[in-house]
Amino acid sequence: AAKTQERNTFRFYTPLMHADARMRLMLGADLRQALIRDEFHLVFQPSVELRTGRIVAVEALIRWRHPERGELMPDEFVPLAESLGLIRRLDAWTMRAVCNQIRLWDQAKLPPIRVALNASAATFGHPGFLDSVKQALQASGISPKRLLFEITESAILRLGEATEQTMHALHALGIGVAIDDFGTGYSSLAYLKLSGIDYLKIDRSFVTDLPESANDVAIVEAMLAIAKSLGMCTIAEGIENAAQHEFLLRAGCAEGQGYYYSRGLPPQELERMLSPNPRHEPSRLRLVPPK
Ligand code: C2E
Ligand code: MG
Ligand code: MG
Ligand code: MG
Repeated sequence: AAKTQERNTFRFYTPLMHADARMRLMLGADLRQALIRDEFHLVFQPSVELRTGRIVAVEALIRWRHPERGELMPDEFVPLAESLGLIRRLDAWTMRAVCNQIRLWDQAKLPPIRVALNASAATFGHPGFLDSVKQALQASGISPKRLLFEITESAILRLGEATEQTMHALHALGIGVAIDDFGTGYSSLAYLKLSGIDYLKIDRSFVTDLPESANDVAIVEAMLAIAKSLGMCTIAEGIENAAQHEFLLRAGCAEGQGYYYSRGLPPQELERMLSPNPRHEPSRLRLVPPK
């Protein structure tokens, strides 16, 4: 039986691994080029205050306009950048782009909403991270209060002790910290005691089957209770319909993101949505521009 299994395994993996390795090698080379040629851009997904429908924040999401393959999503190149040791450069690009965008929005007198950005473990855990953040703040002149770093639960567990100092230091600078994809890491709740966590983002996988799934209802209610008692703000990810919105609103979740409200938008489209008199109806829910 072992022999058959071995043979099957061999037959199954070799061609795939080959194709995969070649693909990764090619894309990896392209990625280095892309950093030089500046082929990335950001879209911004609104985060909505559930009670009012007001846009209170956006999350910056990276996209790669590949010269041959067209628009690539982060799932297709962020893990690759991580394994090739390029993620710090990619995240540094995002940070500069976010700071520049905030400066432009400030100059255009748009409402001063929070802008969240994602940082990989290697970025967040690097000893030079805080300095690069301070540098980006200084170069752009924006207020640290406008920024929020999203870091996944699994990254925190992987990074260990240094994480707390980094989160604390960001917090001290006035920059927010959110735990992204909450509930999907190894379920140690111990790190929630770490200081400097301002937001919990409830992962989409717990939102999808709300309110039908009794298990997900129980899990989400428990997450909201923990966040509340620890004084953290809550954001639900991946809200796609009115029933999910209603449930989360009633359960006391503060904010939501998802296709129900809006996808990630190019800056100009977001600007239209944020201007005091939006000319178009952006989604099924009437979004209200911030105060
Ligand atoms: P994330 O930070 O958890 O971002 C949420 C993802 O869910 C985004 O995918 C967003 O487009 C998608 N999403 C939002 N609402 C809905 C919904 O209602 N339904 C569904 N099905 N999906 C929804 P995206 O843009 O493909 O990003 C994927 C991941 O890539 C992000 O997950 C984040 O971990 C990572 N990422 C994005 N930008 C960066 C970056 O600049 N640096 C790093 N290190 N990672 C990034
Ligand atoms: Mg995120
Ligand atoms: Mg997330
Ligand atoms: Mg996610």
